[in-house]
Amino acid sequence: MPSVDELMAELEATRRRLDEVTSKVASNDEKMRQTHRRELRLLQAETLDALIFALTEGLRVSYGLEHVNLVLCDPDHDIRHLLLANGTPAEDFGHLLMVEAMTGLAPQYISLRRPWLGAFAHCDHQLICPGAGGIKSIALIPLTHRQKLLGSINLCSADPQRFTPAHATDFLAHLGVIASFCVENAINRARLMRSGFTDVLTGWHNRRYLTVRLGEELARARRDCARLVCLMLDIDHFKRVNDNWGHAAGDAVLREIAQRIESQVRASDVAARYGGEEFVVLLPGTDVGSALLLAERIRKSVSATPIDLPNGEGVTITASIGISEVQPAPEAEDLKTIGDSLIARADVALYAAKAAGRDRVIVEAA
Ligand code: GH3
Ligand code: MG
Ligand code: MG
Repeated sequence: MPSVDELMAELEATRRRLDEVTSKVASNDEKMRQTHRRELRLLQAETLDALIFALTEGLRVSYGLEHVNLVLCDPDHDIRHLLLANGTPAEDFGHLLMVEAMTGLAPQYISLRRPWLGAFAHCDHQLICPGAGGIKSIALIPLTHRQKLLGSINLCSADPQRFTPAHATDFLAHLGVIASFCVENAINRARLMRSGFTDVLTGWHNRRYLTVRLGEELARARRDCARLVCLMLDIDHFKRVNDNWGHAAGDAVLREIAQRIESQVRASDVAARYGGEEFVVLLPGTDVGSALLLAERIRKSVSATPIDLPNGEGVTITASIGISEVQPAPEAEDLKTIGDSLIARADVALYAAKAAGRDRVIVEAA
C-alpha cells in the first residue's frame, strides 16, 4: 500500500503534468491563431507589391525575426516586368531576390519539399540571404507550383535555437502552401491587369488604363489642391502613310512615334495610346507653361528626323498637340465629368492646331 505522503506526491506530480499539457495546448492554440492571422494577411494582399511586402517585412515583424527574405525564380523576367509596369522595380524591394534558376544557390534547394530548419551556414546561405548579418539559424520554406520549386521564404534568426531540425514544421509547411498559392495568384492577376491595360501594337498603356489613371490623378489633384495638365497628340495626315506605304508602314510609324514621345516624358507622367493615331499624356503637378515647353519638345522630336519604314524608305512625320488643364475644387464630387471635360478640351485645342495648319501646339483658350 502506498503511504498517504506517496499518494500526495503522485497527485502533485500528476497535477504538474496536467498544468504543463494545458499550457502547451493553450500555447499551440495561440500559435494556431497567429498562423491564421499571418495567412489571412497574405490572402488579403491585393497586389503583387503588397504580397511581397507581406511575405518579407510582414513576416519578419510577425515572427519577431532579425531578417526575412524572399527568393523568386523568374526565368523569363516576367515577374520583374510586372513589378516594373506596376511602378516599383524589383530592385526597390529590399528583401526580394529574383533569380533565373534555383540551382546552385543553396544545397537545400536540390530537394526542398518541406521546410528545412537548421543552422545558418555562411557558405550555404549567403547567396539566398544577401545582406543578412549575425544570423545563427534559418528556416527555408519552399514555394512550389505543381511540385516545381518557385522560390523560398527564408526566415532568419540570431538565436541558434530558433530553427533546429528538431522543431516541428507543420505550421511553416502550411504557411508555405498558402504563400505559394498567393504568389501564383498575384502574378496571374498582375498579368491580367497588364494585358487589359496594354496596347498590343506599341506596348504602351491603352485608353482603358488612361481612364482609370485619370480618375486617380484627378482625386490626387483634388486632395493636394494641384493642377492636372492633359496633352493630346494626333499625327498629321497619317492616312497618307497608310495610303502610300501600306498598313505595316503605318504601324511602324505609330511604334516609333510612341517611342519618341516616351523619350520626352517623365516616369511620373501618364502616357497612353488613346486611339488610332492619337496619344494622351497626363502631367500631374505641372503648370501650362512647363507643359507647353514639353509639348514643343515632343513635337520637335517627332519631326526632327525621318522615320525608317520597313521598305527602307524614310518619311518625315509631323504631329499636332492640344493642351488643357484643370484644378479640381476640394469639394468637387463628379471627377468623371471633370475628366471627360479635360480630355474634350484638349481635343478642341488639338482641332484648333489642325485648323491653324498642323505641326503646332495650341493651349486651350482661357
Ligand atoms: P489629320 O492630320 O487631320 O489628323 O489627318 P489624318 O490622316 O491623320 O487623320 P484621320 O483621322 O483621317 O486618319 C487616321 C488614320 O489612322 C485612319 C486609320 O486608318 C489609321 N489608323 C488607325 N489606327 C491604326 C493602326 O493601328 N495602324 C495603322 N497602320 N493605321 C491606323
Ligand atoms: Mg485622329
Ligand atoms: Mg491624324
